[in-house]
This record gives sequence, structure tokens and C-alpha cells, in this order.
Amino acid sequence: MITPKSFLSLGLLALAPLLAWQDDSQPPTQQPLIGFSRQSSLRQLEIEGIFASVPSPESARFHHRYLTEEPHVEGQPAQRRVAEYVLDHFQKQGIPAEIVEYQAYYPYPRSVAVQLLEPDKKEFALREVGYAVDKDSFSEDVILPFHAYSPSGEVEGQVVYANYGLPDDYAALQERGIDVRGKVVLVRYGRSFRGVKVRVAEENGAAAVLIYSDPMDDGYFQGDVYPEGPMRPASAIQRGSVEFIFIYPGDPLTPGLPAHSDAQRISPEQAVNLPRIPSQPLSYQDASQILKSLRGPVVPKGWQGALPFTYHVGPGPSRVHIRLQMDFAVRPVWNVIGRIEGADYPEEWVILGNHIDAWTYGAVDPNSGTTALLQVASGLGKLIREGKRPRRTLILAGWGGEEYGLLGSTEWGEDLRDELVRKAVAYLNVDVGVSGSDFAAQSVPALEGLIRQVTRTVRVPC
Ligand SMILES: [Zn+2]
Repeated sequence: MITPKSFLSLGLLALAPLLAWQDDSQPPTQQPLIGFSRQSSLRQLEIEGIFASVPSPESARFHHRYLTEEPHVEGQPAQRRVAEYVLDHFQKQGIPAEIVEYQAYYPYPRSVAVQLLEPDKKEFALREVGYAVDKDSFSEDVILPFHAYSPSGEVEGQVVYANYGLPDDYAALQERGIDVRGKVVLVRYGRSFRGVKVRVAEENGAAAVLIYSDPMDDGYFQGDVYPEGPMRPASAIQRGSVEFIFIYPGDPLTPGLPAHSDAQRISPEQAVNLPRIPSQPLSYQDASQILKSLRGPVVPKGWQGALPFTYHVGPGPSRVHIRLQMDFAVRPVWNVIGRIEGADYPEEWVILGNHIDAWTYGAVDPNSGTTALLQVASGLGKLIREGKRPRRTLILAGWGGEEYGLLGSTEWGEDLRDELVRKAVAYLNVDVGVSGSDFAAQSVPALEGLIRQVTRTVRVPC
């Protein structure tokens, strides 16, 4: 198990050469740290030792419990409380910090409804089933399952199953003479970002998209489902954004510019990163009702999922009615930015960030990472109190509105574009700091050796 303590040490150590602290003594060492001279390695290790002595399982538990106490979608009072908690923690550590607010265009779901009309009539619940062992699984405060930035709309049509909804999948349908124009495509999560699935469906002329989690990719085929195991249970629905972030991320109405309250805004109709057809996520419990009634050809090789029947592509006879009502508005996005001025190279910025908004409680995503971020702040605070300062400027960032489409970080980046281009030397992200039992890291290839060295250094507490 990678704990927040080990992760955050690892995260910080991974950037060790950039996170060098002011160093007066220069004792020699046998095996220098990558990026350090023999002389400076011992001193750096001593400073890292002070830093690493601060985080504890108890403080990680404390922070994590606070952060996950309520669902905290961007713009809601519960999310403001999370932002203020992070701000307060930075400031208590002696790190100057502020909440930096932007005004972005994003929706909350008012109502979502999907009905099977044929061959049987059935209204899907579109709610997760609760579990006695998990009181929060019954909460009414959890946001409706929806795709952020799906437009409102009402669509009725025959269903076609299009596998993962990749361009090749539509090509395979076309080869079989199946036209998805005006149809509702049912695709499974995986192998591409959900916004891409909606975009490709749009390009192929579909009227609407339903995206479900197949148990083969994300459910019982992978292992025991919650609460017996960690895998997705039958009624669970993956929320998420379908903004076309590959065209541009952030606020749809202020592309390339910071979304200040007085910013010039384009109209939603002009925003080319917004999908035009409705889309809705489904559980595999609900999707199976649609899928099992599909006829037409048996699916091509590799399209069969783990539901207990042979999949067919359709079209129909399954026919569905989708009705989505979204409440779009320009709303606040709260970033928390802390900053420790560098002693030697204040014009070089090392940025450590994670988002602080969540679709629901966010125990893993993002709050395991936010917990690590808070513990990093504690470690840095101790060093500051001991009169030590980093050689370069450190910026700690809690991003708002990430789940919607990287809203907070994009707007901040657009706001500080010129300064970032000149000063930013490294960015480290800690989203999903803890998950499962395997260690994983991503980086540019140049850091591979450093990551290996650090994994040998950092002990996993058992
Ligand atoms: Zn996340």
C-alpha cells in the first residue's frame, strides 16, 4: 500500500534537484543523489530527513476525513469549505496563500431520465444502490449521475451498440451496412476519453450517446465488486466531463483568456469545445437491459463484454427515450495558491498541484492527493520554521473545477501565461496519490533514473 506519507516523500524527492534547499555546509558522500554533487547530497538528505519526519498516518487520516466528509462539486458551499480548509492549512504552516477565483461556464444536472421503450417498457433508476457498511452510499447529497457539458435535450431512437465508440468501431459498423445516423449509440467506457467518444459519435451522425461501464473492463470480470472488493458494482455509474478538452480545456466561453468576472465571453453556441448531442452515463445493470434486447448481427470479434449473453449490434429493436435537463451558468471556480519565495532563484518556479474538487466524496480522486499536498505543506512549514528556505520558488496549488475540464488550472495558466513561460521549471501533479497496492508514476523519460533511485530510498510503512 502506498500511503500518503510515502507518496508525498517520493513526490518531493523526485524533484529533488529542483527542490534544493539553501546549503552552507558541503560534507562529502559516497553515493550522491541524482542531480546533486557529492558535497551537497548529505546536506540535502539531512533537510529531506527533517521534511519527512513531519507527515504521519494520523495527520493524513485527519485531513482525509475532513476533505471527504461531504460531496464537494465545484461551486457548492461544501467545496468552498474544502478550499478554505486548504487555504487555512497552508497559512498555518507559514506559507503565504490565497484563494484565486475565476468565473467559468459549467452545468449542474437538474434531471436525468432514460427509459427503455421497446421491446419492454422500463424506466432506469439512474441511482446507485446503497450499502449498509457505507452510510455515505445512501446520501441524497450526491450529484445526479451525468456527463458534464452534455447539452440538455430529449431524444428518442433505436439503439446501436458501437463497442468503445472509437473511429474503427464505426468503420466496422459501416462495413456491416449499419448506419448510426439519427440513432442512439451505446458504447462502453475505456480506451478513449469519454469526450472523444461523444465527439466521434457526433461526427458519425448519432443523435445521442449512452456510455456504460462494462463489467469486463470495470466490474466483476476484474475481481470482487464493492463492498466485497474494490471493483465497480452493478448499479454504479461513472460521472465525468465530456467537454472537448482536446480542442481546448478550461472555461468554454473564454478560450485562451482568463475567466475573470469582467472577461469578454463568447456565446455557448460559439464554443467549439462543447458537445452538441446529449450524452448520459449508465451502470452495467441498466445497460444490460438495453444490450440484451439488441438484435441484428452478432458483434465483431473483440466487442463482446462480460455481460451474460451474446452481444448484437442492432439497430434495435431496443428503443430508448433520453431526457436531460441541465442548468448551465457562469459560476465561481476556486483555486488555492500558496507560495514560498526562493532564496537563490526566486524567478524559477517549481509547482506542486492537485485538484480539490470532486464529483462525490472523492476519497481517492482527488483527496488522497490533496492529503499528500497538505502533508507536503506541513513538511515545508517545519523547514521554514527552522529558518530554511528553498533555493527556487515553490508554488503549492489546489485547483478548482478540474472534474469539469481542468477549469481552475487552465484559467490560472491563461492568467499567468507570460510569467509561467519565463519562470516555470517543473510541475508535479499528485491527483490520486493513493490507490490500490501497486506503485505507479509517470514522468518524462529523463526522470526515470531519478524515480528508480527514489523508490529505493522511500520506505513503505506497513
Ligand atoms: Zn482527479
